[in-house]
Amino acid sequence: MVVVMAPEATQADIEQIVTLVSAAGGEAFVSRGVSRTIIGLVGDVHEFGALNLRSYRGVTDVIRISVPYKLVSRENHPGRSTVTVGGVPIGPGHLTVIAGPCTVETADQTLAAAMMAQAAGASLLRGGAFKPRTSPYAFQGLGEAGLRILAEVRAETGLPVVTEVIDPASVDLVSSYADMLQVGTRSMQNFALLQAVGSADRPVLLKRGMNATVEEWLMAAEYIAQRSNLDIVLCERGIRTFETATRNTLDISAVPVAQRLSHLPVIVDPSHSGGRRDLVLPLSRAAIAAGADGIIVDVHPHPAAALCDGDQALTGADIDELAATVRTLPQLLGRTVTAGRTLSTVA
Ligand code: PEP
Ligand code: MN
Repeated sequence: MVVVMAPEATQADIEQIVTLVSAAGGEAFVSRGVSRTIIGLVGDVHEFGALNLRSYRGVTDVIRISVPYKLVSRENHPGRSTVTVGGVPIGPGHLTVIAGPCTVETADQTLAAAMMAQAAGASLLRGGAFKPRTSPYAFQGLGEAGLRILAEVRAETGLPVVTEVIDPASVDLVSSYADMLQVGTRSMQNFALLQAVGSADRPVLLKRGMNATVEEWLMAAEYIAQRSNLDIVLCERGIRTFETATRNTLDISAVPVAQRLSHLPVIVDPSHSGGRRDLVLPLSRAAIAAGADGIIVDVHPHPAAALCDGDQALTGADIDELAATVRTLPQLLGRTVTAGRTLSTVA
């Protein structure tokens, strides 16, 4: 915290602040500039907040410089965390691939997509049963029937399931089928939903709001953590910019920025950010090069017939190329990671 004194503040005004801070168990460092003096405070910000320093004579401003999110911050938790989903680690030393259809349509389509996901090197299956669609006329997902299909495909393939939950009322239902709860970009600031998944006994994949700053994203994670669920994975999925050539603009710098500010793992969605099949591999490579802890990728056995997001689904030879990329690129870049179910942490 920094206390900014007014140009006309007297020596007595400055000493009063120093005395108050010391009495509250903190330390005050006085820096005198040409026109004004600032006082740097070191200690417990809650104690300082209770002093109401702004109300004292000679004080013009009190600026908090420690980050407003505590539980997910790296300030208080210097090491990076690993989140485990159905036995699969996401975090430092791993490159975890999550893949599957955007939307669960049928049992056959979901099983075929899950097999493609495995072929691509995925160790977790994605697929939406409750879809947050921009248009109320678009396919909204199969609901619980879709969750049942995901559970069947998990039983058949062994892939733990990541699926979206769109409202607080269905958190228990989705948790009863899913291994990880996804909070989508449109829901990132649905605070009731964040609190509900924070109370659920499942890890959470928190996508960045398409209009959210990194700080707002981390504050959303703090809502979940505050309800005592720290098993949160952040997902950069593109933000809205002036550019219309892509569906969204992948903010690749958000990966190292979020990893520096937070101990939580950070993955990238190259499918929803670009919105185009031809961009998925280049954006996956960019994510791996930037140090992402994983990627979440749409795949579909018949993209042209997909009920949602067919334009961005990988299929055919692209699956093999993704598998080769995931297998070889980290080593080429000097990243020591393991993919799949291996639980050993190398980094
Ligand atoms: C999804 O992953 O299916 C999805 C809807 O993503 P987003 O919330 O990032 O648009
Ligand atoms: Mn989608």
